[in-house]
Amino acid sequence: MPRIFSAPNTMMVDQMRDVLARQGIDSNVRSRDLAGLSGALPPGECWTELWVDDADAPDAHALIEAALASGDAAAAPHRCARCGAPLDAGFETCWRCGASGEAPPPADFKREHIGRASPRARQRAMFWIVWIGLALVGLVMFRAYARQHFAF
Ligand SMILES: [Zn+2]
Repeated sequence: MPRIFSAPNTMMVDQMRDVLARQGIDSNVRSRDLAGLSGALPPGECWTELWVDDADAPDAHALIEAALASGDAAAAPHRCARCGAPLDAGFETCWRCGASGEAPPPADFKREHIGRASPRARQRAMFWIVWIGLALVGLVMFRAYARQHFAF
């Protein structure tokens, strides 16, 4: 009885179990309770596992490969479609930008975003550059003046 699949979250394993069940393949879920021990055990050893009978292994393997390769994007580690952040298997919502995997980003999202933020940021930067410049010039002039008129 070989192990056919394992994943860090039980949801994914149940999903794969479902895929197999729909094709009439029985499977067993093992180590379901070990998920709570992640942190105490090496990460790979507390993944939930899916086991099938030897006879079913080739079919089960093909089905799982197909399920992982096809539309089921969330069933494998992937990247956020909007910001490109790496997402673990089973997560559809991006931890970084909150995008929920399905919707592809508008093609010009990045450019548009930068174009909108930029003028204001540039204005603020110019404001500070001018003021710091004036402050430095003022300091230098004051020092020159002070050196001439006061004895330090
Ligand atoms: Zn994202």
